[in-house]
Amino acid sequence: MHLPSLEPQASVFYRYGIHPYRSSADRDGPARAPVVIVGAGPIGLLTAIGLARFGVGSIVLEDDVQVSHGSRAVVLTRRSLEILQQLGVDRPFRAKGLPWSFGRSFYRGTEIYRMVMPHDEDDRFLPALNIQQQYTEEYLIDACAAEPLIDLRFGQKLVGLSAQEDRVTLRIDTPEGEHALHAGWVVAADGGRSTVRRLLNLRMEGRAYAGNFVIADIRADIDLPTERLCHFDPAWNPGNNVLVHRQPDGVWRIDFRLPDGETAEAALEPALLRQRIDTVLVMIGKTTPWELDWATVYSASALTLPRYVHGRVVLVGDAAHLLPIFGVRGCNTGIQDCHNLAWKLAFVVKGWSSRDLLESYSVECVAAAREVCEEAGKSTRFMTPPTKGFRLLRDAVLSLSLSEDFAEDLLHWRTSRPHEYRASPLNGESDAGLTAGVAIGQAARNVKLGEDDYLFDRLGARPGFCVIVFAGGDGVTPELAALLRVAAEPPFPVVRALIGERLAGVPGELAELTVEDEAGRIARKYGAEPGTVYLLRPDRHVCARWRLADGAGLRAALLHAAASQAVPRAGETLSSPR
Ligand SMILES: Cc1cc2nc3c(=O)[nH]c(=O)nc-3n(C[C@H](O)[C@H](O)[C@H](O)COP(=O)(O)OP(=O)(O)OC[C@H]3O[C@@H](n4cnc5c(N)ncnc54)[C@H](O)[C@@H]3O)c2cc1C
Repeated sequence: MHLPSLEPQASVFYRYGIHPYRSSADRDGPARAPVVIVGAGPIGLLTAIGLARFGVGSIVLEDDVQVSHGSRAVVLTRRSLEILQQLGVDRPFRAKGLPWSFGRSFYRGTEIYRMVMPHDEDDRFLPALNIQQQYTEEYLIDACAAEPLIDLRFGQKLVGLSAQEDRVTLRIDTPEGEHALHAGWVVAADGGRSTVRRLLNLRMEGRAYAGNFVIADIRADIDLPTERLCHFDPAWNPGNNVLVHRQPDGVWRIDFRLPDGETAEAALEPALLRQRIDTVLVMIGKTTPWELDWATVYSASALTLPRYVHGRVVLVGDAAHLLPIFGVRGCNTGIQDCHNLAWKLAFVVKGWSSRDLLESYSVECVAAAREVCEEAGKSTRFMTPPTKGFRLLRDAVLSLSLSEDFAEDLLHWRTSRPHEYRASPLNGESDAGLTAGVAIGQAARNVKLGEDDYLFDRLGARPGFCVIVFAGGDGVTPELAALLRVAAEPPFPVVRALIGERLAGVPGELAELTVEDEAGRIARKYGAEPGTVYLLRPDRHVCARWRLADGAGLRAALLHAAASQAVPRAGETLSSPR
């Protein structure tokens, strides 16, 4: 019998609530849910929200009755915030989180590098936002609770799984004992120690890095801006490094590498931990009283499953990959995964697409995880040099950076860029006449239209493909009107966004959205001229674009990207939608 602790976790800043177990009506019945999601971490909750936007209901099973123990993933990237905005759940994050764009790196106490993360005036969100995972989960649970299509079940632990041709049967343990649940599809979002992964006997590929790190969150009154501080080789921890991040509620994350050979138990021994935190505060010039909230020890891994789709079971987030936290990859990569997965699974459940669409989720997101493993591996090797040679090289870069400007480039902390699905089997054509703008596979780019007014605000949370048609100053010509009618043909949701200089009087049956672009800002960002068309997938990645589109090309690209016809599997030849 599964009996999760009902004792709220202790915290100096966060009040843990208990989400009680409730008996379910289908405990004894043969009910079959279209989708069961295992795990109510950030990724499971976002998957449920993403499915509900397309009218697909889900049951979310969570073995615990409380949110994340500890702050865990504290940095959300701009791309993650754009996804939260598209899902209509970004408001509390913006109200609570601390946005930032700068970092400072020190070597033996001397500042060697000021990191400026890329940001342009068209971006609504700064490159990063600090917020504790407790708040992330709380806000997403609130959003799920407000959505009638989501059935969130706490205190229910998945313990067994058997797959048949047309369903998956799950064995669930609860405070009332075990019962079975049948699902059309199972999404495994059950984290790094995934039960589903173990039950399916799946093995990850990649590597784990040597070296352990302590994360300690303290509450302290420290008047420093929200910047990422990185100290290499401080006198008190020779050869190692220390990261400091500010979080909401006066909480500070202190993250340092342990001397080689030191165990987790030794590192978390209260007197030693207290002494080290005091030393870090001296190092940043802020000696002040503090209280410990949470401390843990972790090591870096760069591991991914080679496939995320196994019959009717789909793995996502930490259940599918374990990524080093340097470069804030873990949760942010998971958010992009589930944004990719949710529309595809919804399209399959709704019968709009063939099951092959899910293969494209696996192909795209495994490739993205492998790229992250490769990139994050570089940061990890810098933070925790695996050999004497790497350490020599790292120390040389750090010493040079005291006097030489060129060494700065070698220090850049590669933060999470949005994934680009350039080799996706869903991609259609890119007109040779369209060289500027947003390339195929890239995420759409935001554009500032006025004070507190951006293109993505206008697109809002409307679900579906998005056909962006640029009318320029010519208004809606008969050719464009014909194109807009073609875009409305598919059986699945498509949003038609018409961009032009003067669009008053355009009939509502031609476009769900019109955006007047008198200054031509959107057209410039997208390299567009009158007649240019972009096709965005429901996760807002560009999958086809034309300098001058024609109806047949647009129709074919839409059907191809939705796998309304067969999508080639990994390794098969990609055919053009035309
Ligand atoms: C100690 C720690 C520190 C971390 N620090 C950072 C950090 O500093 N920065 C960073 O970017 N990332 C960090 N991470 C990683 C980050 O927390 C994850 O990338 C992120 O939480 C992934 O979300 P997820 O939903 O995939 O998995 P999780 O957040 O792990 O959620 C999985 C959920 O599934 C539930 N579950 C598990 N098994 C079952 C089951 N059998 N039945 C039902 N429910 C189940 C769990 O209770 C949990 O709620 C840290 C992780 C840990 C463990």
